[in-house]
Amino acid sequence: MTNSEKNNLLEPESANAVLKGIGASGGVAVGRAYLVDRSRVKVVYQHLLDPYLIEPEIKRFKEAVDKADVQLHQIIEEIPKEIKDHAGIIDSHRLILRDRMIYDQTLEIIRNEQINAEWALKKAVEHTQEVFAKIKDEYFRSRISDVVYVSERILRNLTGKQFENLSDIQGQVIIVAHDLSPADTTQMRLDNVLGFVTDMGGKTSHTAIIAQSLEIPAVVGLERITQEVDSGDLIIVDGSDGQVVLNPDPGTLELFQQKKKKFDEYRTEIAKYSFLPAETLDGYQIKTRANIEFLEEIPSVLAQGAEGIGLFRTEFLYLSQKELPSEQTLFESFRNVVRIIAPNPVTIRTLDIGGDKFASHLDLADEMNPALGLRAIRFCLKEVDIFKRQLRAILRASSYGNLKILFPMISDIDEVFRAKAILKEVIKDLQKENIPFAPQIPIGIMIEIPSAVAMADLLAREVDFFSIGTNDLIQYTLAIDRVNEHVAHMYQPLHPAILRLIRQTVEAGHRAGIPVAMCGEMAGEPLYIPILLGLGLDELSMNPMSIPRVKQIIRMASYAESKEFLNKVFSLNTTEEINRYVLQEMVQLFSDHFRTNGTMIY
Ligand code: PEP
Ligand code: MG
Repeated sequence: MTNSEKNNLLEPESANAVLKGIGASGGVAVGRAYLVDRSRVKVVYQHLLDPYLIEPEIKRFKEAVDKADVQLHQIIEEIPKEIKDHAGIIDSHRLILRDRMIYDQTLEIIRNEQINAEWALKKAVEHTQEVFAKIKDEYFRSRISDVVYVSERILRNLTGKQFENLSDIQGQVIIVAHDLSPADTTQMRLDNVLGFVTDMGGKTSHTAIIAQSLEIPAVVGLERITQEVDSGDLIIVDGSDGQVVLNPDPGTLELFQQKKKKFDEYRTEIAKYSFLPAETLDGYQIKTRANIEFLEEIPSVLAQGAEGIGLFRTEFLYLSQKELPSEQTLFESFRNVVRIIAPNPVTIRTLDIGGDKFASHLDLADEMNPALGLRAIRFCLKEVDIFKRQLRAILRASSYGNLKILFPMISDIDEVFRAKAILKEVIKDLQKENIPFAPQIPIGIMIEIPSAVAMADLLAREVDFFSIGTNDLIQYTLAIDRVNEHVAHMYQPLHPAILRLIRQTVEAGHRAGIPVAMCGEMAGEPLYIPILLGLGLDELSMNPMSIPRVKQIIRMASYAESKEFLNKVFSLNTTEEINRYVLQEMVQLFSDHFRTNGTMIY
């Protein structure tokens, strides 16, 4: 098969039909499909003519929810130990069962509209879907799949249609499903799963995360794969290029077997780097740490050899529940992470809510320009009780390992003073209550607003470390909305202004004797490694999966040559020239690793 053929969307019935989706976990799998039946239960509309029928209908709904709760509890009990960490998601499903949006709303609809429980539940879910569709953050928006999954379970209990028992799957298969919930994946014997393909999902879906942490190839977001494939069909999953081949002929099969072999060899090779120091040929060491948003990522953090967590985005903990998380819930989450990662450090970033990060139950004002609005530290300095609750939880967790605190969105020195003053008050309260916490917790700030760079010398005197958030620094410096696809092409990390701001921050930090980390997406891009080394950053924090390949490039690079490389970059005037120069040099220097367009070969 030629490349051009491969890239075409062929008719699904034909041999070698290729369906394009989103590569969610790299690698190639070849095997027989197992189609998971999650077809929606048919729901009929019934008007309850007699008011006496309403209470029994409500009782029926409540019983179906109770039964779902028992079923989910049972699933948690039976989770195989290697994926025990995912039990938290099923716990969150148990919370969704009684969430206002589903539970109370369905009861209200049964009462007010006098209709049957199935139809009322369907209406409640549709309404919830509308609410979720407005959420800007892709990860949070995608959590609607959890709501749909939970409601489907209640529906099946109402109608008596059983959920398929996935623990019965025999032999090694490729799982093909409309969508998979954590409850599904935790029921499977994952050593029997060669690959995952789903109609739904994005890079942050549960299927993607589980597939990545277990290194199982996965393609998600295929939209209609469940309509094209039957159980027993031979299929190829190419998670690296985000495609699925149906009914491959022998030639195509051979081609992908070779690709699989190469990928497996690459993975064995790259895995060696996970636990080697991130050190250049001439002995310059840089820390490589992981960014996480939720606890399910911890196994991957450990497997990829991260030297701790450089950025724990705590926003997620505020979304997964109906109400603000209690101090105890926050404390337990922080403690669990800190304890597992110790003795390596965990940098916990205080709540960065607002902007593109949205939590429905927090009373956030409708703002014309949310990215420039009451976001992150600004929100916390206004909502001091919410801030204090989080700081108490963080401090309490500090005695279980090595913890640092990071304040986001600092634009002015006064915000640092105020945040530290509130932290001091919390410390005093804990002392009064005899609650233990670590005596010396490093306090850092995100450098992600140009004003913070401009006064980095002054800020450096007030804190123990800097962490450069390039995602926002680029947004605020170049005036490019980071979630607006119309200006995405102008979102350029190698813009001369951005490189100068990073250099200025590192120099100011080092002059004051404090380390400077980078935790924006730029830090995990292998193509930029010589630039990041040349800039003198002390730590790079990234998606855990990027760590081995970043380490590999660091170990093949020279610090002295990276400095020269950077000098050349600084002698260029335009982003285009810099992009061209970096691409050309990197492809030439690391020809076994980069394609000519700068993406990694595997
Ligand atoms: C950043 O802005 O670069 C960053 C790491 O934070 P977030 O993406 O969570 O805003
Ligand atoms: Mg940011």
